[in-house]
Amino acid sequence: MEYSTKRETFNGRGQQEKTRNNFRAPSVAKMAEIPRQMTGAEFRNMISGMNAETRQCQNPDASALMFQSGQVGAPTPKGRRSCQNCKSEFAIEPEDFDFYRKLDVPLPTWCPECRQVRRYAWRNERILYRRPCDLCGKSAVTIYSPNKPYKVYCPPCWWSDKWTAQDYGREFDFSRSFFEQFHELQLQVPRISLLTKNSVNSEYTNHCNNNKNCFRGYSLFECENVLYSNNIWQNGRDSMECYHSDEGIELSYECVDCFGVYQCQYGMLLRNCTDCYYCLDCRGCSHCFLCWNLRNKQYCIRNRQYTKEEYAEKIQEFGLDSYARRAELYQQYRGEILPQALYRFANIERSVGVSGNMIFNSKNSHHVFDADRTEDSKYAIISPDVKDTMDAYHYGFATELVYECHALIHCYHVLFSHLCYDNSNLEYCDGCHNSQDLFGCVGVKQGQYCIFNKKYDERSYRELRDKIIAHMQQTGEYGEFFPVELSPFGYNETQG
Ligand SMILES: [Zn+2]
Ligand SMILES: [Zn+2]
Repeated sequence: MEYSTKRETFNGRGQQEKTRNNFRAPSVAKMAEIPRQMTGAEFRNMISGMNAETRQCQNPDASALMFQSGQVGAPTPKGRRSCQNCKSEFAIEPEDFDFYRKLDVPLPTWCPECRQVRRYAWRNERILYRRPCDLCGKSAVTIYSPNKPYKVYCPPCWWSDKWTAQDYGREFDFSRSFFEQFHELQLQVPRISLLTKNSVNSEYTNHCNNNKNCFRGYSLFECENVLYSNNIWQNGRDSMECYHSDEGIELSYECVDCFGVYQCQYGMLLRNCTDCYYCLDCRGCSHCFLCWNLRNKQYCIRNRQYTKEEYAEKIQEFGLDSYARRAELYQQYRGEILPQALYRFANIERSVGVSGNMIFNSKNSHHVFDADRTEDSKYAIISPDVKDTMDAYHYGFATELVYECHALIHCYHVLFSHLCYDNSNLEYCDGCHNSQDLFGCVGVKQGQYCIFNKKYDERSYRELRDKIIAHMQQTGEYGEFFPVELSPFGYNETQG
């Protein structure tokens, strides 16, 4: 579809946001290998490196059994498969088969990096526009540019009882493909202008839940008075311009990958620190300035110990009340402190049997990044509190049994879905909330036993669902995440 493949022309606000991102990118921790900091080529290189390490399937008999006719191309020699998208070879490891069997899904036909890029194409986090709400007519800030052919409602209208997604319900037509009909449904059912749920005075936030007084935040959860920040999970308070924090961040500014910090500024990889400025990789420290790799220290400047009084005197001399002095200090931090610090090859803590980077309190998980409390998962990026999942991006908070999804929270057994909070037993759903047992639905709230937004009794639902899956297996659609062409965004508006 032409609108999703062409490059978008940004309006003033979007352009401003884009410029800011470009400006900010070099200032955050490269070592964290956060995907949004990479160019497409860098990301591909990183993943190819990981693929090179991927072990070959140890059990060719088991893998051969899984290749049912019509599901996936024949395995290449030695149990490796050819990606149906980029044609490179990839392996499915023995332990992956248990997962696919448990969910009763076919084997993937695309390699892990192509699957990830396909999910990235569905996340426009912060390229914002204005367009009128299609229900109340008021101007709304939204991730959908005015030329997009969707109905877009502002959050109060979208969450209201003034409309219901079931009114758009329709029969499934077995003479046509699933995705073609799904796209028609997407074009009819209203979309929420920004996904802001259960929040107070936080309407200019996206992918956010349970917040109060937040502004221009993305992926904020349980936060209060947090501005211009991203991926702050739990107890973010009175902070600004921060990226990726769990376990609390308060009265802090310009902190990246900092956990349990209070009154810190320009910090990276700080844990349980208080009043630390321009510091990198410090733990249990307080009142430190331009320091790196310190543990349980107080009153240090450039890693040199001072008395409390000397420290206070020195800090006065730095002149933190001057913008120009602060700009100089920031240059010193970047030019002197960051290059001489020691860096671990990967930040993995309190975790067993994991691979990836920025992994905390996790076990049995591989190829995971920005993960906390992640268990038995693979190919997961940004996954706080998930269990038994594979191929998912930006999801978590008591989420279990998930495959090929993007943007889920509080979900159980959800497959091939996008932007769905608080659900169980969903497949191929887009923007559904507080629901269970949905298949191929868009924008359903508090629904059950719906297919293409039409309500059925339980028995009819299960029979029809099985018939559609059989149809999709024949068309080769079942087992694949939504195609990039169905994404509501231009590719350059997305994380891709
Ligand atoms: Zn591929
Ligand atoms: Zn409205």
